Amino acid sequence: MSDIRNVIIVGSGPAGYTAAVYTARANLKPLVIEGAESGGALMTTTEVENFPGFADGILGPDLMDNMRKQAERFGAEFITDDVTDVDLDGDVKKVTVGGKVHQARAVILATGSAWRPLGVPGEQDLLGHGVSSCATCDGFFFRDQDIVVVGGGDSAMEEANFLTKFGRTVTIVHRRDEFRASKIMAERALNNPKITVEWNSTVDEILGTDGKVSGLVLRDVKTGETRTKEATGVFIAIGHDPRSDLFRGKVDLDDEGYVTVAAPGTATNVPGVFAAGDLVDHTYRQAITAAGTGCAAALDAERYVAAFE
Ligand code: FAD
Repeated sequence: MSDIRNVIIVGSGPAGYTAAVYTARANLKPLVIEGAESGGALMTTTEVENFPGFADGILGPDLMDNMRKQAERFGAEFITDDVTDVDLDGDVKKVTVGGKVHQARAVILATGSAWRPLGVPGEQDLLGHGVSSCATCDGFFFRDQDIVVVGGGDSAMEEANFLTKFGRTVTIVHRRDEFRASKIMAERALNNPKITVEWNSTVDEILGTDGKVSGLVLRDVKTGETRTKEATGVFIAIGHDPRSDLFRGKVDLDDEGYVTVAAPGTATNVPGVFAAGDLVDHTYRQAITAAGTGCAAALDAERYVAAFE
């Protein structure tokens, strides 16, 4: 039985690494299976200004590197590869990586979520240089600028309203002639004097000048005509997809594919399996909230594992 670990953590974003710090300090010697690339979503950004404890901000990759080192200091072990299969039933969970099966009493799932891109020219090149997927994270950088929000659901409305605190103008680009958002959210946006809407419009391209966003090419879906709109910030708000494909049929997911947990805890419907971070979170999607639920998952796993001692 000696090859059965206490805890395996799947994912290396703020949720996974925080779970690793806590379980390592609880002497559980966690194995963190990081994914093919370690560090999670913040590895793709520059300045993080809202993670408490860093008065002058910190670069996303530096923050993640610090978290990893902190977990390592207390004995966490790491495999930098993707999990390809999981068997979560029973008292011994099995997690497969590259043909090798790792076993543990408890598993913490923390594979995050991915924002849905538009898939148009300019979007990836200008990511972090005017293109963003998170108003809470980046709105502050767009003071007195012309901002476009692409989308028509609740998230797009919320982002647009929030961005009016910073932007000179906020334009919502939506492909239909009415919003999919709830009535109250849509009305709040439509009644906001800083917000205008480009109805029946899609984005053909995001334009850049000197490596920064300078505008968009919009297409009228009814006439097919294109036009250029000037803007220096583009927020993509057409949805997020939780990375839960691997866990489908193994733990309960909600209609949108997020892992469901017994809130306010982190327990899934399968005993010994806990989930944290953006993989469970429709709403907040912040590094600090992911870290917070990562901590909670570690404490829940610790209590679960104690029953086997
Ligand atoms: P993630 O950070 O997404 O990590 C998921 C992990 O799971 C990754 O390590 C991945 O490799 C791993 N994984 C996936 N599939 C597998 C698999 N099959 N096997 C093993 N591992 C797997 N938040 C803020 O608070 N402030 C900011 O300034 C900020 N800026 C952002 C900028 C950008 C560009 C983006 C994209 C996000 C930003 N966020 C910010 C949001 C923040 O990054 C996320 O809320 C947070 O990273 C979620 O943490 P997580 O641990 O749940 O998931």
